[in-house]
Amino acid sequence: MPLYEYRCKECGNVVEFRSSMSAKEEMAATLQCKSCGSGDFTQVFSGIALTNDSKSAGPAHPPPSGGCCPGGMCNLQ
Ligand SMILES: [Zn+2]
Repeated sequence: MPLYEYRCKECGNVVEFRSSMSAKEEMAATLQCKSCGSGDFTQVFSGIALTNDSKSAGPAHPPPSGGCCPGGMCNLQ
């Protein structure tokens, strides 16, 4: 069952819960912030950078060591 993260729009508190895909929206509708009591949440998508802060961190996938292609196939020529 996938894990979902929702962030409180009022105070930024993040709530996590596990739910089936079909019940996700229903679960989200019943969320209430433990910090400020707000029920206004927005989904956080894990693994996707939502801010611009990480853009200067460089390529996500560095080239494989040893040459232009994985496994050293270039060296066979
Ligand atoms: Zn809150």
